[in-house]
Amino acid sequence: MVRKLILLLALVFGLALAFGVTRAGADHGPLHGHVIALDAGHSESASDVGAINTIGGTTIYEKDVNWDVVVSAKAKLEALGATVALTRGENEFVDRPTRYQRAADAGAEVLVSVHHNGSTDPTINYTVTFFTQKSDERIARLAQNHLVAQLGFPDSGIRRNAFGMTVKPKMPSALTEAWFLTNDALAAQYLADPASLIGPESQGLADAAFEYLTTPASKPGKQR
Ligand SMILES: [Zn+2]
Repeated sequence: MVRKLILLLALVFGLALAFGVTRAGADHGPLHGHVIALDAGHSESASDVGAINTIGGTTIYEKDVNWDVVVSAKAKLEALGATVALTRGENEFVDRPTRYQRAADAGAEVLVSVHHNGSTDPTINYTVTFFTQKSDERIARLAQNHLVAQLGFPDSGIRRNAFGMTVKPKMPSALTEAWFLTNDALAAQYLADPASLIGPESQGLADAAFEYLTTPASKPGKQR
């Protein structure tokens, strides 16, 4: 439904642009005026690389996969007119207080911290999303549902667990673990065709932010 709406909006804006009706399409997109913070997990220091997997002699670090996803999600949200603030640069070491401050300074309404899970079992994989405050639950549920819809991995649901960047930000936040980097089949897929994972994952995050910002919260007791 949301994807159909996005397609329809893209068509309308494309036609408007073609006929010279709008001056700048994305500036008037459905998320114009909204600010979203995306946090690529890890890289708080040189040693903070997150989960690791090595496939055929190539080592993949979670911090880099997290970065790929936020860059892709940022482009999708900006195409809808949103302003997206990233809490760190690609090869920048940034501590959590600075990340919180950057999200707040940007005026972000919501923050999503992107992670990828790790396990000693190279076959395990599922999608899970963490949150801390009661006010985080809606974005956590939307992120989880849209990630599962896009990626199709087993749905482990949302968990309230005071993890990472969801603990102290000034805005509602969620921490996503869309898939396991330690899963050998997925790590190999990431190396061979990164877009096959990054594309649907970033689409799920963009869909979640879109729904969060454009749909009123349901009344208590009517939540799915
Ligand atoms: Zn992580």
